[in-house]
Amino acid sequence: MTEVQTLLVDWFSREGRDLPWRRTRDPWGILVAEVMLQQIQVARAIPFWEAFLQRFPTPAALAQAPLSVAIRVWGDLGRYRRVVDLHRTAGILVEEYAGQVPDDPEVLRTMPGIGPYTAGATACFAFERDASFVDTNIRRVLHRLFVGLDVPQNSASNREIEAIAARAVPAGAGWSWNQGLMDLGAMICTPRKPKCERCPVSGRCLARPAMEVASESKRVSGNERGVKPSYRYEGTNRYFRGRVLEQLRALPPEEDEAGLRLSDLGARLRPGYSGDDLPWLLGVVHSLEEDGLALAEERAVYDGGGDSGGVVVKLPTRSERAGHERSAPRSDIAVGWSRKGDNGTNNDASKANSPGGAETVGDTGLEPVTSTMST
Ligand code: SF4
Repeated sequence: MTEVQTLLVDWFSREGRDLPWRRTRDPWGILVAEVMLQQIQVARAIPFWEAFLQRFPTPAALAQAPLSVAIRVWGDLGRYRRVVDLHRTAGILVEEYAGQVPDDPEVLRTMPGIGPYTAGATACFAFERDASFVDTNIRRVLHRLFVGLDVPQNSASNREIEAIAARAVPAGAGWSWNQGLMDLGAMICTPRKPKCERCPVSGRCLARPAMEVASESKRVSGNERGVKPSYRYEGTNRYFRGRVLEQLRALPPEEDEAGLRLSDLGARLRPGYSGDDLPWLLGVVHSLEEDGLALAEERAVYDGGGDSGGVVVKLPTRSERAGHERSAPRSDIAVGWSRKGDNGTNNDASKANSPGGAETVGDTGLEPVTSTMST
């Protein structure tokens, strides 16, 4: 190994975080972790990861469960589109790969919601393949280390950083190298005020000489009062998507099929809900339908629609886009898996799940998170 590789790997062996998914090489457990961790803080993800794997310890266990159950077990972790994609991926793994997670990143990338980051991280962390991949932390560390300062803006493109990442992986030590990069970015080489004086690779870092001055000026010019701009999450469409799913998940499973009448749902979400709010509520529900997270059905009086009939909202049982399955027979068995993502891409879940938001991939724990109920 080169000096910088040795320094980082040694530092990781001493200082790396002890995280539950690092104690296993179970490919399914690691795939679930990588899907969950994107834009979610590590400490927050741990109990959800443990609960999800306890209920679905294998792809087969998840594939056999109705999607409504998977959404419930996913709980309040947010980014619910991910569980839809994971459910579909589990079905493909069962049908085409004997229930096993493939070790080839190129194969993994053909699964719903799995992009280059998740595919590479799973191949590396589960199978100890010397794969390279780039998330926000890794990108920042590699840029500073091998290119130079990343302020006021990056001077290397994403493609160039990916090429650097591929060249930098030490043969036979990809697992420790990539984990070390992630931890260095999370704990030492942070976006603001990196702790260069404690950095194990500071002697080999191209950004180090100018970093102190640059980070100081960035801090001052970025916000002279030192107050982060506020962002009011409550009231956004994403907030109410989470609230709708919260209400649907709270129903007893035996009432999944009955669902909630739209008017009842509206009253639970917004005090003083009235007919004027109907277009807003339909918009929220239809956006969930688009992502396969809910179903809205028109029902007659005799069909459970309530006194006056109307729209009923419920959790889906199958991991297909609701709009595609309206005329298909329903089943609690997951069938009809589609390999591609619904948008025809193979982007990581974080990209598919970030309508208008930052598209950070593979968060390793210390990036700001604006939501605990985002969808
Ligand atoms: S020396 Fe500073 S800028 Fe360079 S990798 Fe270490 S923490 Fe980051």
